[in-house]
Amino acid sequence: MIIQLEPSINQDQIQALKNKLGEIKYKANKVTTQYGDYLVCVGKKEFDIRSIGKMPGIKDIHRVSDAYKLVSKKWKVGQSMIDLGDGVKIGDGQFALMAGPCSIESEEQIQKTIAHLKANNVKIMRGGVYKPRSSPYSFRGLGIEGLKLWHSLAKEAGIKIITEVMMVEQIESMADYIDIFQVGARNAQNFNLLDALGEVDKPVLLKRGMSGTLDELLQSAEYIFSNGNEKIMLCERGIRTYENAYRNTFDINAIATLKEKSHLPVIADPSHGIGVRRFVDKIAYASTVAGADGIIMEVHHTPEKAFSDGQQTLNFQEAEEVYQKVRKLREIF
Ligand code: PEP
Ligand code: MN
Repeated sequence: MIIQLEPSINQDQIQALKNKLGEIKYKANKVTTQYGDYLVCVGKKEFDIRSIGKMPGIKDIHRVSDAYKLVSKKWKVGQSMIDLGDGVKIGDGQFALMAGPCSIESEEQIQKTIAHLKANNVKIMRGGVYKPRSSPYSFRGLGIEGLKLWHSLAKEAGIKIITEVMMVEQIESMADYIDIFQVGARNAQNFNLLDALGEVDKPVLLKRGMSGTLDELLQSAEYIFSNGNEKIMLCERGIRTYENAYRNTFDINAIATLKEKSHLPVIADPSHGIGVRRFVDKIAYASTVAGADGIIMEVHHTPEKAFSDGQQTLNFQEAEEVYQKVRKLREIF
């Protein structure tokens, strides 16, 4: 059960509410976010929710039977939208393209990517400066210095930045240089990281774990929301299955299903989703038709020379075709 509190609720009214919840043996968790105050209540007893709904200081009350509560669509009217400023919005009908390399590599690469994005009216650039790699000997990113350089160039060009944060300790030093924190598949259930991202007022794109169910993804999102940050996007990036004809199995079902289960924007990552360059465009189109609120895609001026994930990265010409066709599809669906 979710109880939305009026900002004007006073101490006496809170006490009366607590007494009432005590009577029916519901445990209440207070959540305060950048947008509102909630009590997330868990209990078993059947009761008439109107008896709480009509109490003073209560804005609204909803029954939510899912394991996840605040990220559920069951209580919120409409879809959530994330406003990055400068007219860049994601969700609730606002579609976002995000593109860039797997890893940030050099000033030249950043400049070339920014020029490509600007020429195609793509407002958000992706790129990793802290890279989770299977092998410790692979390129692991340029770190905070790379992020600072990228930020100075992107800001000048009016381009927003999405990049992965891997540890709680990195959050503070990165926050001023990013527009969206990405939580990678490998950290989808790093609950300490999720708790900490709940405490910053920055959008978070949360990727689905390598073998994570949708319920697990939504409960991970609940960690962020319940710690105070409502600016969350869910990302389908493929899961590991028995099929080895491609890197991951992109779960197209997840797009439509998450949109029904949650009010949060849903983003598709076709690059990691299939992991095969020549098929990335098809998965991007399918995701758009399935109802994604955005696409995050790996692009590079020379994919053959990319420091990471070149095998699933499009060159600028290939990417342009995807942006154009995705935009056309958006007009139809
Ligand atoms: C990435 O975006 O480059 C990345 C490492 O993604 P994922 O966490 O989905 O593997
Ligand atoms: Mn990658």
